[in-house]
Amino acid sequence: MKSYDLRCPICGAVNRGLYLEETDGWMECEKCGNVTQSMEHRQTVLIPLILKTQSRSDNNKVDRLAVGM
Ligand SMILES: [Zn+2]
Repeated sequence: MKSYDLRCPICGAVNRGLYLEETDGWMECEKCGNVTQSMEHRQTVLIPLILKTQSRSDNNKVDRLAVGM
């Protein structure tokens, strides 16, 4: 797995040998201890949630046909 050297955006210290692909871009700075996420190495793609509403309108047609008896 590829490792990266990344500069901490909080304190500016360079953290070496980070496995950003494994942590989805997250790293914990070895100097200041802050946990930050690098957007460059972010792997996760946000997928919009599609809600399928099941239409039950077909039942109404059946009811109307039954009236003709
Ligand atoms: Zn830091």
